[in-house]
Amino acid sequence: MSTPDGLPPLREVIAAHGLSAKKALGQNFILDLNLTARIARAAGDLAGSDVIEIGPGPGGLTRGLLMEGARRVLAIEKDARCLPALAQIAAHYPGRLQVVEGDALDIDPLAHGLQPPIRICANLPYNVGTELLVRWLTPPVWPPFWASLTLMFQREVAQRIVAQPGSRDYGRLSILAQWRADVRVVLELPPQAFTPPPKVSSSVVHLSALPAPRFPADARVLSRVVAAAFGQRRKMLRASLRALHPQIADLLATAGIAPTQRAEEIGIEQFCALARALAEA
Ligand code: SAM
Repeated sequence: MSTPDGLPPLREVIAAHGLSAKKALGQNFILDLNLTARIARAAGDLAGSDVIEIGPGPGGLTRGLLMEGARRVLAIEKDARCLPALAQIAAHYPGRLQVVEGDALDIDPLAHGLQPPIRICANLPYNVGTELLVRWLTPPVWPPFWASLTLMFQREVAQRIVAQPGSRDYGRLSILAQWRADVRVVLELPPQAFTPPPKVSSSVVHLSALPAPRFPADARVLSRVVAAAFGQRRKMLRASLRALHPQIADLLATAGIAPTQRAEEIGIEQFCALARALAEA
């Protein structure tokens, strides 16, 4: 069977390198190169960008990124079994793919000479996806090193990222993401799109970094406020935020929030006003 890039089909790659999927590493592979090219296209203008990919596995999305013209791809993979398959891709695209073996939670991707604009594109291992997203969204200074994130999540997590106030999914992730980025779901994928199929459906979310946050606030204070507010989301804010400050009712009033309101009723602008009032208090 021929492939669009002339490399072997992914099923053959997996068989040749004995890449049986490991559940502990969140290994649900995409073997359809048309689909991985679509995900790569959703990441934006790759021809003028360096791309970081977390968890390339056998390289389906990596090949999509390279076929779509990424200037350079830095791929971080924890499973050493995948490295020979990835080396074959690197040889096919001289100078454009660098593979780093290790845990994405420990590796600094900026130590490898990437040039801006930098885009992050990944079919993330579900066990580390949310943690990486929160790290990328909460550096102390903005704009961040990345121009966009195009990331696969289980559908429930994607819905939380794009949720609006008043909805059941609205929470910490919605606020941290939408405070500093434009966010949208760009692709929905059923379990059958993966090998082996996971139990849940998945969505690709595209986040494009804003030049400045929508409203001023200190990232650490805002993170603390929303973590406390949504940690007990059914409670009134004067109760859920009590531990943050002895005069929390006054600070809520300064931010234009009634102390009897609940976290899911409060928009990003008001949470930022509350974070500023707390920082000043
Ligand atoms: N990108 C491939 C694809 O789309 O078919 C594989 C995606 S699979 C959902 C997740 C990949 O992340 C696996 O290859 C797994 O070995 C790797 N992985 C899991 N935990 C990781 C970590 N902490 N750091 C780097 N890679 C990790």
